[in-house]
Amino acid sequence: MNEKPAKPSPSSSPLSEGLSVRDAQACILDKVTAIGTEDENIALERALGRVLAADVRADRDLPPRDVSAMDGYAARAADIADAPVTLKIVDDIQAGNSPRVTLQRGQCARIMTGAPVPDGADTVVRVEDTRPGQDGEVEILVPVKVATDIRRRAENMRQGEIVLAAGTAIGPGTVGALATAKQAAVTVHRQPRVAILSSGNELEALCEPFDPSKIPDANTYALMAQVQAQGIEPELLGIARDDPAELSGFLKRGLGHDLLLVSGGTSVGVHDHVRPTLAALGVSMHFWRVEMRPGHPLAFGTLGRSLVFCLPGNPVSSMVCFEQFVLPALRAMLGHRRLFRRTLTASLAHSIKSRPGRIEFMRVKLTRKASGIYEASSAGSQSSSDMLSMARADGLLIVPSASKELAAGETVRVQLLETGAYQDEAELGDES
Ligand code: AMP
Ligand code: MG
Repeated sequence: MNEKPAKPSPSSSPLSEGLSVRDAQACILDKVTAIGTEDENIALERALGRVLAADVRADRDLPPRDVSAMDGYAARAADIADAPVTLKIVDDIQAGNSPRVTLQRGQCARIMTGAPVPDGADTVVRVEDTRPGQDGEVEILVPVKVATDIRRRAENMRQGEIVLAAGTAIGPGTVGALATAKQAAVTVHRQPRVAILSSGNELEALCEPFDPSKIPDANTYALMAQVQAQGIEPELLGIARDDPAELSGFLKRGLGHDLLLVSGGTSVGVHDHVRPTLAALGVSMHFWRVEMRPGHPLAFGTLGRSLVFCLPGNPVSSMVCFEQFVLPALRAMLGHRRLFRRTLTASLAHSIKSRPGRIEFMRVKLTRKASGIYEASSAGSQSSSDMLSMARADGLLIVPSASKELAAGETVRVQLLETGAYQDEAELGDES
């Protein structure tokens, strides 16, 4: 882990040190709010995962008139009160067709699901409750009350009313609703442009041959995937060596984006040049260091409309900091109202010890017990360099900063990771 002693900030701007996670999140979200978002118009086919930036109104009543909810016969309830009775079939109405006749006493119309109910009819008899009669006739076997199996005009949408409000996150259901409201193009919040930079002389790029003295650059790709999971394709800037001049060139490029993620070189080592180099480029650094484990040496700054996160070099620290700070910022920039990962309560499978003083995020696996309760167990090594336990984890267990030990069976809170939202078996509540 990156636990190095404090040294004064290299930046000229005032820095609060050792913020709580909550205060750091508040500081970041304040800056995002101040910057605001821009809108763009995109095709519905591309809208999944985006957020509506304008209200959407219904262009028509839906259904446009009273329609049948079943395949059957449109009839007059009064005619069939003494069923079984035989009615004369005077029309055959399919969905998409208009009725040709007004029903008179003793008459009915064959009708399909979604087809308009003819004038004169006030109810629908399901085909299962009928029997074919003589030529052109049907036998209605049971009486049916007025308004049975009829979907009323505008029951789903009324013309002119807001059906989807600005701020709605677009999921598959929303895409369907937008298509229903005939929105071939939708106004959404623009996606932020994101750049990712790794820094460190020891880093070996993915395409480079194995060198035993080097460390594979994991952060570029882990951060890339975290950004991609929000529907954004980031620009990968590559690896900057621990050299202020080289770093400065990379950072300048990165600052042309809405969001720059730099990992490594943010601590207090003699080769940690990221923060002073950003400051020299005019970036205002708002804080450095957050009281958390892993992830202490996090810094955050802004330059104009660009946000910069200096993430710790250790791969797990960098991912955990993304989860706590970059994710909410990114989601706010996308226009989302729900900014944070869902948490759930779980029962701890085994005791865990922790060092009090900082909130801790522990990689855990979640198993659903027969009782329906989730059980959290360690996903393996909690070293901040161990990416494999991050790969196994379903969530991050939140160990409160005051805690020294949590006992087996204790109720704990777990933040779900991207992979934590699925389970092995369908659970439908009953055995149906
Ligand atoms: P630093 O914050 O630069 O002191 O880095 C802390 C630790 O994280 C060192 O062991 C680095 O080798 C490691 N590290 C830094 N950047 C990366 C990266 N992109 N991928 C994997 N490990 C990294
Ligand atoms: Mg380094």
